[in-house]
Amino acid sequence: MHIVPESEIAGLVSRADCFDAVEKVFAATARGAAVNFPVIRESLGHADALYGFKSGFDRDSLALGLKSGGYWPHNSARGLTNHQSTVFLFDADTGRCRAVVGGNLLTALRTAAAAAVSVKHLARPDAEVLGILGAGHQSAFQLRAVAEQRRFRRVIGWNRHPAALSRLQSVADDLGLPFEAVDLDRLGAEADVIVTIVSSYAPILTAAQVRPGTHLACMGTDTKGKQEVEAELVARATVFTDEIVQSITIGECQHAVARGLIGETGISELGAVVNGTHPGRRSAEEITLYDGTGIGLQDLAVAAAAVDLAIRKGVAIEVDV
Ligand code: NAD
Repeated sequence: MHIVPESEIAGLVSRADCFDAVEKVFAATARGAAVNFPVIRESLGHADALYGFKSGFDRDSLALGLKSGGYWPHNSARGLTNHQSTVFLFDADTGRCRAVVGGNLLTALRTAAAAAVSVKHLARPDAEVLGILGAGHQSAFQLRAVAEQRRFRRVIGWNRHPAALSRLQSVADDLGLPFEAVDLDRLGAEADVIVTIVSSYAPILTAAQVRPGTHLACMGTDTKGKQEVEAELVARATVFTDEIVQSITIGECQHAVARGLIGETGISELGAVVNGTHPGRRSAEEITLYDGTGIGLQDLAVAAAAVDLAIRKGVAIEVDV
């Protein structure tokens, strides 16, 4: 069995590796070759922690395993990341544990890769203005990954606490793109692509604020009750997701479905667009919305890529179990 420590991930896996792995696994999911198993997520009644695991199997790549972890809100006081996760991979032929992989950085990279895959397949080719709603830990990864998908000329951003936008400013500086902090009206009116990546339990961006032709990647809603955009905006858009079951239960679509504004049949898998069985965007005026809920298969795909690279570069630790 191999161990790939968290500290090695940054030097091993590139954004391009993650993009490829996530795009392939979305395609496999839409073809029925890869399946996510039911998600477990429980409150521990200790340390105010939420713990769970996401698992699945991809018959194409033979990635089998789970990501285990959750949210420990008091970790930051200990100098640790609040979100903690570890990926366990198993040999699909024997069931033996194949690898244990640090999952914290991989989670940020795979989440950003999913948004980037949605932008590649759904945003207008002439998109020039990238809007980011949110300035937390994930937002910097989102900006870097999505910025690679179109010839963006500038970045605009909104956050509940504007001071935190300095995080996006410094990434934009690094990318050589001008950055401006804006209000929500300007974000919706000027952006061609909008990534939402906040932890909110009430809608922030409204349907009236978003103009025709926009592509939205809603990435922050991954739990029952969370919400980033008005349900009316979801209803107005052509909606895609990583997995429909998650989208309607824990994703951004949960609210529009609960209010009867859209049905399950109105949501398509992004993988179908990757495979060419769904045309994706049909006009320059259409609003497309990707509901990125985060699936276990994404974690397995990027972790498997990390293990292959770690073995090749001689940094995987081999142990007997
Ligand atoms: P973070 O704690 O670093 O940042 C939180 C962000 O949400 C900040 O921008 C903050 O200002 C904003 N925010 C918090 N409460 C708000 C409110 N009530 N109204 C408006 N803004 C509010 O978190 P992060 O690590 O950047 O994660 C952001 C979100 O993405 C979380 O909801 C997290 O669970 C989710 N996430 C999703 C996936 C996925 O696969 N879809 C993966 C990782 C994280």
